[in-house]
Amino acid sequence: MALIVHKYGGTSMGSVERIRNVAKRVAKWHRAGHQMVVVPSAMSGETNRLLKLAGDIVEGSGRGASPRELDMIASTGEQVSIGLLSIALQAIGVQAVSYAGWQVPVKTDSSFTKARIESIDDARIRADLDAGKVVIVAGFQGVDADGHITTLGRGGSDTSAVAVAAALKAAECLIYTDVDGVYTTDPRIVPEAKRLEKVTFEEMLEMASLGSKVLQIRSVEFAGKYKVKTRVLSSMTDPDIDLNIEATSGTLITFEEDEAMEKAVISGIAFNRDEAKITLTQVPDRPGIAFSILGPVAAANIDVDMIIQNQSINGTTDFSFTVHRNEFAKTMDVLNGSVKDAIKAKEILGDNKIAKVSLVGIGMRSHVGIASLMFETLAKEGINIQMISTSEIKTSVVIDDKYMELAVRALHKAFGLEQAA
Ligand code: ADP
Ligand code: ASP
Ligand code: MG
Repeated sequence: MALIVHKYGGTSMGSVERIRNVAKRVAKWHRAGHQMVVVPSAMSGETNRLLKLAGDIVEGSGRGASPRELDMIASTGEQVSIGLLSIALQAIGVQAVSYAGWQVPVKTDSSFTKARIESIDDARIRADLDAGKVVIVAGFQGVDADGHITTLGRGGSDTSAVAVAAALKAAECLIYTDVDGVYTTDPRIVPEAKRLEKVTFEEMLEMASLGSKVLQIRSVEFAGKYKVKTRVLSSMTDPDIDLNIEATSGTLITFEEDEAMEKAVISGIAFNRDEAKITLTQVPDRPGIAFSILGPVAAANIDVDMIIQNQSINGTTDFSFTVHRNEFAKTMDVLNGSVKDAIKAKEILGDNKIAKVSLVGIGMRSHVGIASLMFETLAKEGINIQMISTSEIKTSVVIDDKYMELAVRALHKAFGLEQAA
């Protein structure tokens, strides 16, 4: 008997029929003697629908919706899901109880719409588990020190599940979704993508941070910090399949690297259209210039990702960096405010039609020529590279977003990922 956490995403919870299937699957694990905690997301499309209502309300008012109220609204999607799943379990004779984040409580900081979990009280959950109940905890939500409801950022139910698993020292956290594991790249973009049996924690962290939305990055951080055994697998199989087969399916996130992994040149390709690029042209090339530009950006609480500064010509240089697309307008405001006059840039150019494509793999440490094959492949497709950044286990490029899918497909082929294990 073990304590197991299951997480079900929006598609897995997407209809009455699917919720019944989730209940059947959870009941099977419960019957096998496991203590079960289940963390569901809102039904698919529901969080978008709720947030759009808020957007519709403020439209034309010139004011944005307040983040606190957005969380009040968005958190209700998961509240419906936990109640429905609990009822579905009770309907098949399984004792179940549901809790919203604040009832556990899942304590977070007060950064509405992107709160961070600070602690999870396990007492109430443990008491119910000991009484033989399945405990259902709302994903994506928590409560701050003043009792305000918070949410954890889009895709945050993954993080709720892994954090609950860490708090309860669960034997395993199973993330059930609409694909049967982590693939070499998004199988919706490249149908030839292959499922990975295992992926290292480090690779998963890079893939999540570079845009593979199969797991929210903070969930991977939690898994790493608390060594939570985490597996991504399908909720679309027959819920009555043999438990032992199900338990070893999908993709396991490992903390050990084996030889086969090192042999692979790269493990996966991540991509996203989440960023925007800003270029300041002809800024004077003198000490302190990067700080004069990025200091005020950081002070406005805006994260910067890639940065490049060109060779100086006649004492001036072009300086480019990327930020999250949601923060593009705010960044432009900061630069056009105090920064522009202070640094005497010729122009401030914004481009939010960029995409970032990244190769990820621990094999990069021991293989040379990865960047050059990447650049050669993109050149053959006539795709211009605007920015490059590398780390020990990833190489990323920024390109025009209209070539993103072409780039991903070409790279997937060039690196032989169709043949991945
Ligand atoms: P859930 O609602 O279950 O949380 P998400 O939509 O958030 O599901 O994440 C699953 C989706 O992630 C898949 O349907 C797939 O399109 C996408 N995805 C992106 N990159 C990958 C990848 N490398 N492997 C698997 N799925 C990926
Ligand atoms: N329902 C939330 C979202 O759509 C959280 C999640 O699905 O993980 O972002
Ligand atoms: Mg998700």
